[in-house]
Amino acid sequence: MAVDVDRFRELLQEERQRVVDAIEYLHKENPGSIEDETEDETTDDHLAETATATLDREIDYTLEENSENVLSSIDGALARIEQGTYGTCVNCGEPISEERLAAIPWATTCIDCKRLEERG
Ligand SMILES: [Zn+2]
Repeated sequence: MAVDVDRFRELLQEERQRVVDAIEYLHKENPGSIEDETEDETTDDHLAETATATLDREIDYTLEENSENVLSSIDGALARIEQGTYGTCVNCGEPISEERLAAIPWATTCIDCKRLEERG
C-alpha cells in the first residue's frame, strides 16, 4: 500500500472530533445560520469563540448539513482503512494521490474521476 494509513487514520480521527464538535456547537448555540457575521463591532464571547474555531479549521463547516456529510465521509474513510482499501479510487481503482488525501483525507475518488463527476 502506497499511503501511510496510520497517519491518515490519525488525521481522520482528529477531523472527525472537530466535525462532531462543530455539529454540537451548531445544535447548541446556533439553530440558524452562522453566516451572519456582518456586525463585527459586536464581538462578544460567542463571536470570538466562533472566529477562533473557524480559524482552527482548514475547511469551513458553516453549514450543518455539510458537517454531517463530512462526518459520514470520514466514517467511510475510517472503514476503508480497516478494510485495507483506503487511498484507492472507488470509481476507477487507481490510487488516489497522497497530495489529494492530505487535502481531503476522506476523498473516495482520484482527481480525474472527481473532475469528471463535477463536470456532470
Ligand atoms: Zn478514479
